[in-house]
Amino acid sequence: MQPRAHFRHCPRCGHAQSATGTGPLFTCESCGFRYYFNPTVAVVVFIRRPDGHALFVRRAKDPGKGLLAPPGGFIDIGETAEIAAVREIREEVGLSLVDLQFLCSEPNQYLYAEVTYPVLDLVFTARAPNPEEAQALDDVDGIEWLDPITLAPETMAFPSMQAALRFWQGKLSPPR
Ligand SMILES: [Zn+2]
Repeated sequence: MQPRAHFRHCPRCGHAQSATGTGPLFTCESCGFRYYFNPTVAVVVFIRRPDGHALFVRRAKDPGKGLLAPPGGFIDIGETAEIAAVREIREEVGLSLVDLQFLCSEPNQYLYAEVTYPVLDLVFTARAPNPEEAQALDDVDGIEWLDPITLAPETMAFPSMQAALRFWQGKLSPPR
């Protein structure tokens, strides 16, 4: 269920709501308390090494367990997307990045503990100056360096990642 559907009582006054509303705004029928539901923002990074291969992680947990995704994670409150990208990549695969550049954004959904969170994925590209330091750390089953030009988008864990990979493939040229 979307987060909105779980709000059957007002979180301020506790009043039971007669109907589950739709749309981004919750308004309490009793006290008028208002709360907006917005997407959670996440960042993922297509990281290339000098031979042109890109780093993908094999997801250790659902959603998308066993499928591939570029490394990344959720942005913390108060963080920029760029700082979150650097932090998440260090935490997840132990790499430092150079040439971090925004590529595109894609809406996504993320099911966690029976709540379907609407997500906006911010997709970046970067280079790894020390690709041999990559390792599978947080929530990662394994890491693989793959040729992004020939990689099938269907191997990605989420439709947003499939769309992002297709978009990136449209811009990539084979390494010379
Ligand atoms: Zn209320």
